Amino acid sequence: MNSYDGHVLVVKVDAPYGEIPEWDFTVECPGATDQCRSWEECGVSECSAYGGADSLYDNEMTEHGQEHRYIGDAWMVRTDRCHLNFDPSEAAEEAVVRLKLGPGRYAVTSWDFHDGVLAALEVDPRPLAPREAA
Ligand SMILES: [Zn+2]
Ligand SMILES: [Zn+2]
Repeated sequence: MNSYDGHVLVVKVDAPYGEIPEWDFTVECPGATDQCRSWEECGVSECSAYGGADSLYDNEMTEHGQEHRYIGDAWMVRTDRCHLNFDPSEAAEEAVVRLKLGPGRYAVTSWDFHDGVLAALEVDPRPLAPREAA
């Protein structure tokens, strides 16, 4: 499970003397796939996906040559960006607090989206070796 093949949660803390520490969470992506891809609202004006669904339960269709998905309350098209790298990431912060993680790099084991938002992030709490040493 502990592998560099997947996503890595990077936890950094910047604590200048006498100031409140600032935590920073980012997720490194090995390359966006359908499992983690970010979708964004279709920018085509009067997109034909709106009103084009055969039923209320249709949430995927191809319009004007692009795959569309209904997420949240909008028709979205695919991007090449990773959806795990929310900023600020409440799911990442929640995982860090729950697992009592310090600064470091952690292998992401699973995640969950809810209505297009990263809702949960699970990581292996054993820190990965720094990349320089790999
Ligand atoms: Zn469209
Ligand atoms: Zn990704």
